[in-house]
Amino acid sequence: MRGDGLKVVSGSCIAVIGGGPAGCASAIKLIKEAGKKGIRIKVIIFEGKDFERHYNQCVGVLSQPITRLFEEGLEMPFPGHLIKREIAGYVLHRPGSTLELSGESGTYATRRILFDRFMLQSAQDLGAEVIRSRVTGLEFNGDSVHIYTEDKFLKADAVVGAFGIDDGIADALEQASAHTFIYRRPPKVLDTIVAKVHIDLQVLQERFGNRIHAFIPLELRRIEFGAITPKGDHIIMNIAGRGLTSGDMDGFIAYPPVAGLVHDLDLSGLDYFKGRYPIRPASGICGDRFAAVGDATGLIRPYKGKGINVALETGTKAAETMIGKGLSAAALSAYPASFHHLYADFLYGNIFRSLVTVSIRTGFVDRVLNRAKDDPNLKDVLFKVVSGEGTYRDVVRKLSRPEELTALGLGFLRNLPVALIRR
Ligand SMILES: Cc1cc2nc3c(=O)[nH]c(=O)nc-3n(C[C@H](O)[C@H](O)[C@H](O)COP(=O)(O)OP(=O)(O)OC[C@H]3O[C@@H](n4cnc5c(N)ncnc54)[C@H](O)[C@@H]3O)c2cc1C
Repeated sequence: MRGDGLKVVSGSCIAVIGGGPAGCASAIKLIKEAGKKGIRIKVIIFEGKDFERHYNQCVGVLSQPITRLFEEGLEMPFPGHLIKREIAGYVLHRPGSTLELSGESGTYATRRILFDRFMLQSAQDLGAEVIRSRVTGLEFNGDSVHIYTEDKFLKADAVVGAFGIDDGIADALEQASAHTFIYRRPPKVLDTIVAKVHIDLQVLQERFGNRIHAFIPLELRRIEFGAITPKGDHIIMNIAGRGLTSGDMDGFIAYPPVAGLVHDLDLSGLDYFKGRYPIRPASGICGDRFAAVGDATGLIRPYKGKGINVALETGTKAAETMIGKGLSAAALSAYPASFHHLYADFLYGNIFRSLVTVSIRTGFVDRVLNRAKDDPNLKDVLFKVVSGEGTYRDVVRKLSRPEELTALGLGFLRNLPVALIRR
């Protein structure tokens, strides 16, 4: 090990596996924090994909506090030039009814591939080296981490795991760290399918406007939720659920509230892209010479996601902890504590997700949406859920107010027998 124990010193080398938002945020912040201490470190980003060619599953919606994460966290301006559309509101759809939701949100649609290129270029401009190769194996030795890639072998002082949801590298880590408990359980995931449809600009504007259309297709059993997001010159349709197939996307497109919006668009030869996103945190996200960031932590918000925000925040915090405290397991134990609010909100998010699942199964969700039309508090809660504004803690607390509990609770009990007979 070069340097003083497990402290980062001039000449230390930190390898970042994955050049997505989390990896780039880590690289940018590592270099900036080291610079503040007057030390010069080597940061190497390994990225297996070519961002010029590969489609990214992500819809590319950036929501607040994205501006603060750039300005205060990464100490760089928010890249406003990447905004393709400012999202003004949301429309929740059920067969035969819609609910319009709007409020202060500062939500923007970007092209994810351009966002990724911008982040990687920013890291390179600061001096990070980018190696276009997949990492295939890791060994944690006492004094360094050995990294195997498709065409190189490298020794580093520490590794940032920014590989998203990648079974290959998760397996390699599990083997490499059998005795260190690093990354001993990868995140649990939900399937997603995405389709991109180019449409006439006038139709795009008139029909979809600057609003994200969200669907709760309780009639389509495997789909937990779906959305249509307007971008610069196209829309993105996406669905999430367990065990999804292309047939589920076909079903979503034929689902009456969706068909009402897309039936006359040219959907021939549509490409479907499969992906996943985490729904349960990984365990062992840090240890001697290792910190996982972004999706690899599994800390995405149920429904809204905000995965890019989590990526930037965890990437920034991991870098601050490595430079400020060191690379040992004890030093890095401060890292998860630095975003404790994400863990806390994850619990509330899961409580909320369970409530929604039960509401969907019992059909009670329709009563909630109808009631929200005349109930500003409930409408505000739903806006916060779909826009990602505020925390799930606030959402659950607002729903727990005595008047809401009485109205919703009685409604739910009234609905339950009907739902049980229906099943
Ligand atoms: C359908 C869908 C829609 C979404 N929409 C949104 C949205 O609108 N807004 C939002 O905020 N979030 C959204 N998300 C979530 C968001 O995409 C992720 O949370 C975010 O990309 C996480 O960033 P990351 O850097 O952790 O991982 P990633 O973006 O997945 O980046 C990981 C990188 O690591 C690379 N990699 C993996 N393994 C290796 C290896 N062994 N060697 C080298 N490189 C490797 C990959 O090629 C990849 O580029 C969406 C997700 C899905 C699935």
